[in-house]
Amino acid sequence: MINEARMLEEFFELVRIDCPSGQEKSVAEVLRHRLESLGCTVAEDQAQQHFEGNCGNLVATLPATKASAPTVLFTSHMDCVSPCLSIQPRLENGRITSAGDTVLGGDDKAGITAILEGLRALKESGKPHGAVQIVFTVHEEGGLKGSKHMDAALLNADFGYALDADGAPGEIVTMAPGQDSITAIVHGKKAHAGLAPEEGINAIQAAGNALAALKIGRIDEETTANVGLIQGGTATNIVPDHVEIHAEARSRNLAKLEAQSRHMKETVERVCQEYGASAEVTVQRQYDSFILAPDSPAVSLAVAAAHQINLPVHITGTGGGSDANHFNRKGVPTAVLGVGMKKVHTTEEYIAEKDLYDSARFVLAILEQASLS
Ligand SMILES: [Zn+2]
Repeated sequence: MINEARMLEEFFELVRIDCPSGQEKSVAEVLRHRLESLGCTVAEDQAQQHFEGNCGNLVATLPATKASAPTVLFTSHMDCVSPCLSIQPRLENGRITSAGDTVLGGDDKAGITAILEGLRALKESGKPHGAVQIVFTVHEEGGLKGSKHMDAALLNADFGYALDADGAPGEIVTMAPGQDSITAIVHGKKAHAGLAPEEGINAIQAAGNALAALKIGRIDEETTANVGLIQGGTATNIVPDHVEIHAEARSRNLAKLEAQSRHMKETVERVCQEYGASAEVTVQRQYDSFILAPDSPAVSLAVAAAHQINLPVHITGTGGGSDANHFNRKGVPTAVLGVGMKKVHTTEEYIAEKDLYDSARFVLAILEQASLS
């Protein structure tokens, strides 16, 4: 059974520990002890060697007491977005908020607490269960860096769940887009704007023409694109020779993602060339899309678990990426579960107390359902 008082106390304890992206070490140490005391073996990978960070992802394994059951993975991220130093959580009328000057950090400590409490309740029940893998990632915010560089050799789960969506417990996200970053550097030719403009090639105008020719926004029901940042020029009296454009494309359909990125690259290159300028365009895959079938083990087990504890099931897709994109890529079919966090990445972030407890019940029910097989 879920112990609500214990869970609330742990949630408060964890959100109070400072852990902006790349500085998760203090919270990781607490979590390592907690996982070890639950009977897990805990490893830490070296993901942080690929970016700035003071610790790697934690990968814990709880051994099976029933060999035939599948190995299930649960994951949440340890870091939070700024402002997130000295968070002071408070509970009022069934709702947990920060003091108002920071985020709450329920994104994603709600997920972490639900996993820990679900695991604890499973152990206390004494029921036989399959092996469980728990991955607490670093640097999810700002690029999914921890999961991207996660050491896949440490993963052996059959399927898994990322507790990191803002829907209510019972929400199961089974589709997410892949994303490309597109960077264009437009080269023109510098000249004095008053004395010899005919000697210049205006990189800003070339870029402007190119951008006007791009299809962006919502491309179709699975595909979006955006130009988000443009930089260039030095002064009004100089014909600018350099512009940088940063854009992105997303799609749940890999072929459509590739087609959209190709369109953006080729259009910018062609229009700049027609203008007399040139453009170097690079397309970089940030993460792949994933789609889990309704009858896949991850989805059907979560649905059965939600029914077991009377949570309304809501199967849906998302337009954003999460650690689940990388776990799917690394061979663990992973759905994203709603934990009820609201207004994340703002100082108004909150979570209903009930959603916190229901998330732990959901974790426990998934583990119980998995141990039936
Ligand atoms: Zn999150």
